[in-house]
Amino acid sequence: MPRPTLARIDLDALRHNYHRACEKAGSARPMAVVKADGYGHGIAAVARALAKHAPCYAVACLEEAEAVRVAGLSQPVVLLEGVHSREDLSVCRQQDFEPVLHSPQQLQWLEGTVSPPVIWLKLNTGMNRLGFPAASLPALMGRLKSMPQVRIKGLMTHYACADDLSSTGTDAQNAAFIAAAEGYPELLLSAGNSAAHFRPRNPLFDWTRPGIMLYGATPIVGLSAADLGLKPVMSLESELIAVRDLEPGMTVGYGDSWRADKPTRMGIVAIGYGDGYPRHAGTDTPAAVNGQRIRLIGRVSMDMLAVDLNPAPDAAVGDRVELWGGQVSVDEVAASAGTIGYELLTGVTARVPRHYLSSVV
Ligand SMILES: *Cc1c(COP(=O)(O)O)cnc(C)c1O
Repeated sequence: MPRPTLARIDLDALRHNYHRACEKAGSARPMAVVKADGYGHGIAAVARALAKHAPCYAVACLEEAEAVRVAGLSQPVVLLEGVHSREDLSVCRQQDFEPVLHSPQQLQWLEGTVSPPVIWLKLNTGMNRLGFPAASLPALMGRLKSMPQVRIKGLMTHYACADDLSSTGTDAQNAAFIAAAEGYPELLLSAGNSAAHFRPRNPLFDWTRPGIMLYGATPIVGLSAADLGLKPVMSLESELIAVRDLEPGMTVGYGDSWRADKPTRMGIVAIGYGDGYPRHAGTDTPAAVNGQRIRLIGRVSMDMLAVDLNPAPDAAVGDRVELWGGQVSVDEVAASAGTIGYELLTGVTARVPRHYLSSVV
């Protein structure tokens, strides 16, 4: 018998969320962001599930783009971090990968490449992470014009605060992006991450780049994924492998960090930080057993964690426990652990088998 710990991946929910992005994007087209192993869901399965829907994929790096090809898909793949060597540019050309050009170093590599790939130019409009200063675009375009072999598909920028609906920084970034792009109507524009799809009146330009929303976690601070019409894709599950009654005064787990103040039925679940469950999720982090919400108690160990079964007194060894999914959102667990859904989903380790569900064969 395999260990009962697994991640169920609902590919119908993934497609629902992609269609939600299309609906919100209006005339813009969403490229499906499948970096970091499809945000922990498995890049091949995720990319294949969207094959008939997504006209383009986006990943961080060349290895991930190659994984999309190995999965049998022929759509263009955008490399959001661009290339890490001159040689990578030739691979991109051969494989129809579209690297983002964001640095003078990458520009130098491009200059010496006879047959380069189609590229996107990354402009820095306020994130201050990657990209050429928006004001330097005329000079940059001038330099690129002297390289007749280079084809530029579009301009890209990335938001720093789109998740905060009250931020004004995103408006300033849009203004800078629009001003920079003004003289280049032939170039496509791409700015919107998941959050941008839900910002009232935010321009979505030609291509959006939804990531986290495809996986059914919230991109917006203070709004749940359900509020936004998104469905959870991953359900992280395990089983009760021990149940014990604790007397008041008894403790659970490492460091004696939790002590019963009343008779407590306690369950041990076969999942821990070695599976990617966050160790910082402390007492009171929600979980569910047999449709009943329960809470963690004590410290998360590498392979196990403890739950309070007083609200579910009939729960027994072998019963399924949901750590996150349809009953407890990954965002709730993330909030308890002081992090975001992105980190939890991408952090599920290779030890956890992914089981795929789909009504489409
Ligand atoms: C990861 C990433 C995205 C997707 O962001 P989400 O918040 O997950 O939608 C979009 N654009 C760039 C440049 C990224 O790195």
